[in-house]
Amino acid sequence: MILDLIIIGAGPAGITASVYAARKKMNFLVLTKDIGGQAIWSSDVENYPGYQFITGPDLMTKFQEHMEKYGIQVREKEEVIELEKKDNIVYIKTTKETYEAKTAIIAAGKKVKEIGVPGEKEYKNKGVAYCVTCDGPLFAEKDVAVVGGGNSALDAAIQMMNIANKVYLINMTDKFTGDPIMQEKIKSNPKVKILHNTRVESIAGDKFVKGISVDIQGKKDILNVKGVFIEIGLMPNSWFVKGLDKNEKGEIKVNCANETNVLGVFAAGDVTSVPEKQIVIAAGDGAKAALGAFRYLARLK
Ligand SMILES: Cc1cc2nc3c(=O)[nH]c(=O)nc-3n(C[C@H](O)[C@H](O)[C@H](O)COP(=O)(O)OP(=O)(O)OC[C@H]3O[C@@H](n4cnc5c(N)ncnc54)[C@H](O)[C@@H]3O)c2cc1C
Repeated sequence: MILDLIIIGAGPAGITASVYAARKKMNFLVLTKDIGGQAIWSSDVENYPGYQFITGPDLMTKFQEHMEKYGIQVREKEEVIELEKKDNIVYIKTTKETYEAKTAIIAAGKKVKEIGVPGEKEYKNKGVAYCVTCDGPLFAEKDVAVVGGGNSALDAAIQMMNIANKVYLINMTDKFTGDPIMQEKIKSNPKVKILHNTRVESIAGDKFVKGISVDIQGKKDILNVKGVFIEIGLMPNSWFVKGLDKNEKGEIKVNCANETNVLGVFAAGDVTSVPEKQIVIAAGDGAKAALGAFRYLARLK
C-alpha cells in the first residue's frame, strides 16, 4: 500500500508533524528509533512557552500523550536506513522492511558527538551535559570543564564564564579552531583556564560528577569540577537520505516552507539547515512540514 505520508523521527518535530497530519486525516505512519528525541536529555526546559519550567522527559511525555490521543501508528525501534524518491514514490527502507509513500517528512534530528571516555554515559545528566544554553544555569558558581576547541566550545565557555566560578577549557590540539573574536573574549577573562593539548581520560563521581582525570601534555592531573560540557559538535541524522541537498554540516537544506530540493520530501527540526536548534523551533517546523505535505497531496489529486 502506498501511504500519503511517512514521518521519520518522533522528537519534537516528528511528533508535532504527526499531530498535524492526523488532524488532516492523512493516511500515514511514524517510523522512529525512539520517542522523545534529544529533548528527553534536558533536565530543565525553561524556554518552551506555556511551561515556565518542565523537565525534558515530562515535556516529551506530554507530546507523546498528544500523539496517542489521535491513535497515530508509530513503529518504534525501527531505524530508517535509506530514503529515496523514484518515479513519484518515496521508498523508505528500515532495518525491518521497505515502505512506500507519496510524501515524507524527515525529522530525524541530531546526535551529539561523545568523547567516549569512562564515566561519560554514566554521568549524562548528572554533571555531564551537551547543551550550555539549556543546562548552564544548573552550574552557577561551580567549577566546570568545557571540552572542545571549535565555535560551540568557545561559545559554551563564554556563556559559562558568566555563570560558573571557574571554567577549564579543554582542547585536544594546540590551537582553537573557533572564531578569533571569541578566543579573545575567553583569553581576557580570568575565570577561564585554557588547557591546550589536553585530553579527558575519565569522568568520576558518586551520584553526580566530582571530577575528571586529564592528560595535560603528557602530565596526568585531576580537575575537581562539578560539570563537564562536551562541546565537540552535533551530527545531523541525515546519512540515510539519497538525492537530497545538504549543507557543509550535513544538514538537509530546506526553504522556509520546509521543502527539500525533492518535491514531496520535507524536513523539519534539527536535521535541517534552519538556524537555531530548539524544541519550539523543531515543533514549529514539524507543523509547517505536515501542512506542506497536505497541500502537496491536495495538488496531486
Ligand atoms: C542535552 C540537551 C538539552 C537541550 N535542552 C533544550 C532546552 O532546554 N530547550 C530547547 O528548546 N531545546 C533544548 N535542546 C535542543 C532540543 O532538544 C532539540 O532542538 C530538539 O529536540 C530537536 O527536535 P527534533 O525533533 O528535530 O530532533 P530530535 O529531538 O533529535 O529527534 C529526532 C528523532 O528522530 C529519531 N531518529 C533519528 N535517526 C533515525 C533513523 N535513522 N530512523 C528512525 N528514527 C530516527 C530519533 O530516535 C528521535 O526520535 C537540548 C538539546 C540537548 C542535546
